[in-house]
Amino acid sequence: MYQIITKKKRGLELTKEEIYKVVDGYTRGSIPDYQMSALLMAICLKGMSNDETANLTMAMAESGDMLDLSHINNITADKHSTGGVGDKTSLIIGPIVAANGVAVAKMSGRGLGHTGGTIDKLESICGFQTEISEEEFTDIVNSVGIAIVGQSAQLAPADKKLYALRDVTATVDNVSLIASSIMSKKLAAGSQVIVLDVKTGSGAFMKELADSKKLAEIMVHIGKTAGRKMYALITDMNQPLGNYVGNKLEVYEAVKILKGQGPEDLLDASLYLSALILCGAGKVNNIDEGYLLAKKTIECGAALEKFKEFVNAQHGDPDFVNDIENFCKLNRYIEVKADKDGYVNKIDTEAIGMASMYLGGGRATKDDIIDPDVGLYVSKKLGDKVSVGDTMVKLYISEKSDADKAIRTIKNAYLISDDVSAGANSHVYGYYDENSYHDLLK
Ligand code: URA
Repeated sequence: MYQIITKKKRGLELTKEEIYKVVDGYTRGSIPDYQMSALLMAICLKGMSNDETANLTMAMAESGDMLDLSHINNITADKHSTGGVGDKTSLIIGPIVAANGVAVAKMSGRGLGHTGGTIDKLESICGFQTEISEEEFTDIVNSVGIAIVGQSAQLAPADKKLYALRDVTATVDNVSLIASSIMSKKLAAGSQVIVLDVKTGSGAFMKELADSKKLAEIMVHIGKTAGRKMYALITDMNQPLGNYVGNKLEVYEAVKILKGQGPEDLLDASLYLSALILCGAGKVNNIDEGYLLAKKTIECGAALEKFKEFVNAQHGDPDFVNDIENFCKLNRYIEVKADKDGYVNKIDTEAIGMASMYLGGGRATKDDIIDPDVGLYVSKKLGDKVSVGDTMVKLYISEKSDADKAIRTIKNAYLISDDVSAGANSHVYGYYDENSYHDLLK
């Protein structure tokens, strides 16, 4: 290990054997945290080649179970977001593509810090079970077309251990480490089609578009090399996606979209991601056809019906969706108001996610218990005109919420100025297929 650290410190390329040895040794516990930390920091400072990144990905993927989805009848697809605030697209895309004959056999994570997790959101539906047997999981995917469960401890255990170490050694934000971490889990999870939603902006890991594009390109390359059909959409995270942040509130907004009533940015991102899955699964010839098919699937009610079937199959209360206004009626709230006139010029999206966490909707550490009911409604978004006294954000609170901290955080997160131009930012920038980048800026 000493020699491997020295090699990387000098900026030299590690061999496949060296990378496998490190990953295996660290997972089994024969390499201590202090040596692994030194290597991670050397990687952050000197970088990794594409070959090293691909080898690290495969070593981590193979550190646990590699799922075999061959007993699923239809073509299988998975979607992954690099993490954002208010990102509830999985709840929308899954039913859309499942209604078109694509099997979604998905493992999802829980939220940490400013980002939310699909499993926490689903568990806010009364009765919904995210821990079901493998047999039941397969049966639901084969009969309904979609099942979503929590990530098994056997899925890429090397990544689990490494990610926890990166989190406390300031070594998260390296493109090769992020790419290999995400792709190791996606490859081990077994789907044939993988669509990545790579976020860019103030609420994303990658704040700059060029870095997000680089991350997307590397991940597409890794997946393609491993024989999967790959796409990566680059989407904006300079403001929360949609208007709601929080667990039950995000399910509420996803259901609104499936009913044809939600906000345009969330709808558009969901339609593009669905379109790419439909392309990858061979259901349409190109992204435009995919977009139209996804849109029609919402308009005719098939996506909403599929969502209901999925909730019922995983033991969720059927009335939750039918009577969503009642289930999601929250009476305790505080409004954060504007104290100057102007236009919303910037939103620190990460801070909005943190505010939701202070209310109890997120976790500061992985063992924290979340409150599914709290969260916020972002009523003023980039480019919106505001006058003194207008509500910018509505906080849904509980008696345990640190509302004062959340209010302070929200106030600092907004920059209001005379500049009207911020709203012109598009929320979908473009996408990578296996050959090149395609611009979608309108
Ligand atoms: N998400 C992951 O799974 N891994 C990273 O390294 C960053 C985001």
